[in-house]
Amino acid sequence: MEQITALVRSQKRYFKTGETKKYETRIQALKTLHAALSAHESALTEALASDLNKSAFDAYVTEIGLVLKEIRFMIKHLKSWMKPKKVKTALTHFGTKGYIYPEPYGVTLIISPWNYPVQLSLMPLAGAVAAGNTVILKPSEVAPQTAKCLVDMFKNAFSTEYIAVVQGGPETSTALLNEDVDYVFFTGGTAVGKIIMEQAARRLIPVTLELGGKSPAIVHEDAPIELAAKRIAWGKFMNAGQTCVAPDYVYVHKTVKDAFLEALKAAVDELYGDDIAQENTTKIINERHFDRLVGYLSEGHILIGGETNRSKRFIAPTVLTDVTWTDPVMQEEIFGPILPVMEYENLNAILREISDKPKPLAFYLFSKNRDIQHHVVDRVSFGGGAINDTIYHMTTPYLPFGGIGESGIGAYHGQFSFATFSHQKSVLKQTTRFDLPFRYPNAKNGLKRIKLFLK
Ligand code: NAD
Repeated sequence: MEQITALVRSQKRYFKTGETKKYETRIQALKTLHAALSAHESALTEALASDLNKSAFDAYVTEIGLVLKEIRFMIKHLKSWMKPKKVKTALTHFGTKGYIYPEPYGVTLIISPWNYPVQLSLMPLAGAVAAGNTVILKPSEVAPQTAKCLVDMFKNAFSTEYIAVVQGGPETSTALLNEDVDYVFFTGGTAVGKIIMEQAARRLIPVTLELGGKSPAIVHEDAPIELAAKRIAWGKFMNAGQTCVAPDYVYVHKTVKDAFLEALKAAVDELYGDDIAQENTTKIINERHFDRLVGYLSEGHILIGGETNRSKRFIAPTVLTDVTWTDPVMQEEIFGPILPVMEYENLNAILREISDKPKPLAFYLFSKNRDIQHHVVDRVSFGGGAINDTIYHMTTPYLPFGGIGESGIGAYHGQFSFATFSHQKSVLKQTTRFDLPFRYPNAKNGLKRIKLFLK
């Protein structure tokens, strides 16, 4: 732990030199990050295969490629994001000018999970660097090969006083949180998020929490059924369901339920059928999660899938019907390739039901009707989501990505990352050409004149 204290101190010292705040340093750091990530593409792909059996396609599309795209976006826009913004001032502030200066916090700590261990480490890291901070990244110990590869990647590219990767588990996060860090960006489960926030609160360290939860998908009676089935199957079974924004369960309108289930069968067959061998499917991260997920298979009725292989930690894409809210599968975040499908008749009734539960990270509606789209978005509170799609909302840098309530605090991606890792320092420039007298306690009729002025 002495090493951790020394590391944080060295980053603090480096930050105080002002080097990381310079535009040239930030741009160079983003370019170095891009180059280092490109150079480690095959090593990281191998590490992801070893930790999660992730395919090369998934490793690039959902992790490495996504981060490279984000870094290029930041390089392109950084100069304009860094400029102080001139804002209006009120009539009561006649003669003044208002500015907002984005200012880095200092030493930032990023704690990331195992399910997308590259993306969820490097997307926030790029934002922290773009905003002019130093970074300590603590990747998940549950994806150890990827964590090790990230250490190698940064070792040759950056000095540890600027960007350091520290390996370890909960005790390492706690040790880091006991140090004088200036910002914490955490991605993981809700229960751990609460622990992190409590630890950060002791030192009043500001936090962003990217958490999880049960994200619903609603398939309304006018939905494009085949497209809905395909896009839900894709979003759910990608990474073996171990995606924070995966649709956790489906509510389908009674009148289209049979057609939807048929289409779902066809979609699972098409996307994950025979030709996609077990060898090519992301595995369940560990035996504890495997056993937890297999436990769900005894609930309701298995309509599709259900095959499991403990030695390969493989669970086939599975669809459950006949489940109720009292079944554990409907009470906990599933985080695996099991999709319960329930039917409904009355849209407002299920919207009320969903709104009575913790606010989800994501929400998906399949309907072509604009009034219904507006109505649903207006009625339900959720982190972010998509209409007639799943997951895609999180791959554009123009939308903030984050949760609300139990699913998180704060957001990032693109300029929202820059804003997250920047304090908005407000500055009022007062004129020296004149000095309005009535704010002073000795002004004649001061109160009367102020009241008149404020009217
Ligand atoms: P986790 O909360 O167990 O672990 C996340 C990180 O926290 C790891 O680095 C781990 O070492 C550390 N950690 C674990 N316990 C700790 C403790 N007691 N004190 C301090 N640090 C601790 O999460 P996970 O299992 O790696 O990931 C799965 C969860 O993350 C799911 O709930 C999922 O929904 C959520 N998630 C959210 C997002 C998002 O962007 N909102 C993305 C991916 C995953």
